[in-house]
Amino acid sequence: MTVDTARFATRAVHAARGRETAASRATPIYLTAGFEFDDFDHAADHFGTGTGFGYTRTGNPTVHAVERQLASLESGADAVLVASGQAAVSAAVLSVVGAGDHIVSSTHIYEGTRGLFLDNLARLGIETTFVDDIADPDAWREAIRPTTRALFAESLANARNDVLDVAAVSAVGDESAIPLIVDNTLATPALLRPLEHGAAIIVHSASKFLAGHGSVLGGVIVDDGRFDAERAGHNAPHLVLPGRGGLPSVYARHGGRARIAYVRESVAPRFGASPSPLNAFLIGQGAETLGLRVERQSRNALEVARWLAAHEAVESVDYAGLPTHPHHATALRYLDGGFGSIFTVTLRGGLPAARRFVEEVEVFTHMTHIGDVRSLVLHPGTTSHAQRTDEERRVLGVSPGTLRLSIGIEDVDDLVADLARVLESVRETVS
Ligand SMILES: *Cc1c(COP(=O)(O)O)cnc(C)c1O
Repeated sequence: MTVDTARFATRAVHAARGRETAASRATPIYLTAGFEFDDFDHAADHFGTGTGFGYTRTGNPTVHAVERQLASLESGADAVLVASGQAAVSAAVLSVVGAGDHIVSSTHIYEGTRGLFLDNLARLGIETTFVDDIADPDAWREAIRPTTRALFAESLANARNDVLDVAAVSAVGDESAIPLIVDNTLATPALLRPLEHGAAIIVHSASKFLAGHGSVLGGVIVDDGRFDAERAGHNAPHLVLPGRGGLPSVYARHGGRARIAYVRESVAPRFGASPSPLNAFLIGQGAETLGLRVERQSRNALEVARWLAAHEAVESVDYAGLPTHPHHATALRYLDGGFGSIFTVTLRGGLPAARRFVEEVEVFTHMTHIGDVRSLVLHPGTTSHAQRTDEERRVLGVSPGTLRLSIGIEDVDDLVADLARVLESVRETVS
C-alpha cells in the first residue's frame, strides 16, 4: 500500500511526508516532535551515542542553528537554548552545584534568580551567600567556602546599573577553580562578552535583547569550553567520574566542553524546559539585528538619561553611561559601543509622581519587560522589588519615586517629548 492508494484518514496524515533537502537561506523551522530514523541501526546508534536527531527535547536542527549563532556572539565554545531565562539560570546552576554545595552571588540580581537561590535551591540543600559590594574582590573571596561550586553575578545589573569587574571576580573564582556564571542579559554580547574576560559560563534571558521583539520567551547557556579536569575535577565529580553503568565520564567524552555537554545531555532535557523550534527561530531572527538595535538603544538611552538628569522634577538618574555613576569607569573599561538601554530615574515627587508618570506616558509602554524595540517603564518599588524590605530597596537603589526605563529604538525626540509632557504634569500635581 502506498499513501496514494490509502484511504482518506491515512492520506490526511501521510500525504505531506517527504525528505526533500533544499538550501533554505533563512534557518528552516523544524517544528516537529521527533525525527524519522533511517534504519534499525540508526535508531540504536542515536540512543547509544546521542548523535543525530531523534526527539526535539534532546536536539533539533532549528534550535541547534540558533545555539551556534548565540555561542558565536558570546565568543563561546557551545550553547544550549532553553525555554526561558529562568530555565537558563537554573540549568546553568544545576550543572555545577548539588546538595550540600554553596553559591556566592551578587546581591544585585534579577528577583526571579534571587528567589530561585533563596527558596528553591535552599530546599535542595544548596546554600547561597550574597555579596553586596560586588566591586570589592575581597568581599567575594571572603564569602567562598570549601563547598562553593559557583560564583554568580549580572554583568550589568538592574536597578542601580552596577557593572561587574568580570576579570577581577573571575580571578577570585580561579584561585579555587570555581566557575563564574554571568547573566549577560542587560549588557548583551554586542557591548560585553564576559567569556573574553575570564567568565566560564554565560546565561541570558533571550526574551529580552537577543530576541528584541518581545514576542517570545527563551534562554541560553553559553560555555567557554575550557573546563580543566586537572584543576577543577575535585569540584565537579559528576563530570570526571564514570557515569551510570560504567559509561565513560562526561570529561572523557567531551574534554574541555564537559560542562556544556552535561547541560545538553543531562540537565536541560531532564528538567525539561525545552524551547519550541518556532521560538528558537524567532530568537535567531532577532539576534541577527542585535548589534544595530543595541547601538541605537544605547544612543537613545544616553540622550534620554542626560535629559532627565538635567530636569528639575528628577532627583537622580542611575545610568552607568553618566560620569556621575559610581561604576562609570568600570563601564568605560568593559562596555564597548554604548552603555545599554536600561536604567532607573528617581522623581523628586516620590510615589505620587511615579504613579502619575506611568499612568500618563504614551510613547512608553507600562509593562514588566526590558530589552524590547519599544520603550518601556515599570515602578520597581511596587512590582519587581515589592517583596524586598525598605532597607534592601535602599541598598538596591529603589525608592518610592524610582522608575525603571528600558529605552527602545524609536526616534529619541519622540521619547523626550513624551517625558517632557509627563514631567510637566507630574510637577503640577505634586508641587
Ligand atoms: C528577565 C530576566 C531573567 C529571566 O528571564 P525569563 O526569560 O523571563 O525567564 C533573568 N535574568 C535577567 C537579568 C532578566 O532580566
